[in-house]
Amino acid sequence: MDLFEYQARDVFDAHGVPVLQGLVAYTPEEAKAAAEKIGGVTVVKAQVKVGGRGKAGGVKLAKTPDEAFTAAEAILGLDIKGHVVEKVMIAQGADIDQEFYFSVLLDRANRSYLAMASVEGGMEIEQLAVEKPEALARIAVDPIRGIDAAKAEEIARAANFPEELVAKVADVFVKLYEVYNQEDATLVEVNPLVLTKGGDIVALDGKVTIDENAEFRHADHVALAEAAGGLDPLEVKAKAHDLNYVKLDGSVGIIGNGAGLVMSTLDVVAGAGEKHGGQKPANFLDIGGGASAEVMAAGLDVILGDEQVKSVFVNVFGGITSCDAVANGIVGALNTLGDAATKQIVVRIDGNNVEEGRRILAEANHSLVTVVATMDEAADKAAELAARA
Ligand code: GDP
Ligand code: MN
Repeated sequence: MDLFEYQARDVFDAHGVPVLQGLVAYTPEEAKAAAEKIGGVTVVKAQVKVGGRGKAGGVKLAKTPDEAFTAAEAILGLDIKGHVVEKVMIAQGADIDQEFYFSVLLDRANRSYLAMASVEGGMEIEQLAVEKPEALARIAVDPIRGIDAAKAEEIARAANFPEELVAKVADVFVKLYEVYNQEDATLVEVNPLVLTKGGDIVALDGKVTIDENAEFRHADHVALAEAAGGLDPLEVKAKAHDLNYVKLDGSVGIIGNGAGLVMSTLDVVAGAGEKHGGQKPANFLDIGGGASAEVMAAGLDVILGDEQVKSVFVNVFGGITSCDAVANGIVGALNTLGDAATKQIVVRIDGNNVEEGRRILAEANHSLVTVVATMDEAADKAAELAARA
């Protein structure tokens, strides 16, 4: 989960990372009031989860509360790389002397953490890495040792910070690592980290990615996720039923058991969909091993609640849970849902006790259900039904 800049600012603040005042506003009026509260020069910043806001006109300096109003008016509703701005942060203005870069992130390839730092901050880091790779220090960080004062100074020196700033920035690196470690983040990035004309080091723009798998030990992250608007309502519903569900953009709802089977079902549906006007899978949903009627009903309920879904493909391989149990699950789910079930459902079941499973489905003879023998044929049928609906 990516945090908005203002959320990153608040998290930094809570961990003692030096930041400037920042308030969120949803309207120009609120922006003006926030600027009045902060006083002096402010910066109105688009809150969207994408970089390069500055260049896109999403960061504007405001000398007075009225200018903050005008700036917010211009920025709210702006489309920045496909993200529409719904809120802005009014930040206290900084008198910038120099801009630096710092990040710490999970280095999956090396099974380690990686710190990156540069005295050439401000510009996009991807661009810096390509154009001036020598200006970007990359230092491996042992996850057991982390970044202590000595390690932080090593990073600062590797990035060519002037000697008189090393201790000062190192202190901030240590605190940023505390954010990374204690909040279970996979990325903490500050760009720019600035030296003000007054000689202070301040984190002016922060990007934090939180590892959702660690949510169980961070009760407060749930509120962050809600405010971040990261979770789709269907994903929230699926989560409440302990289902592994990811919303996608297509029209064919998918239910399967086992992550591997569901992944290949997505591929097969996308392939078959090309012959039917580009139909695509609408979701990933793995109902796991025990496909009971309740789990099947919960899965179908989530998928049928997706307005984009035009047909559903249930693809189950009976293993420990045999096909007759799965078939009973489907029939039971349709009974439970009653009139709430409105879309055509293509079922392919195979594996343990498949004859009995097919017999149960044939006997139920539900008007919405079509049983198809193979995965390829079933994918084709589901895509065809989605195209026709
Ligand atoms: P980004 O473009 O999305 O990364 O947004 P940033 O928050 O990094 O802002 C872009 C640039 O705007 C920074 O690199 C600064 O040069 C400038 N900027 C941001 N805040 C201030 C501020 O308080 N004072 C001044 N003078 N410049 C600022
Ligand atoms: Mn930035």
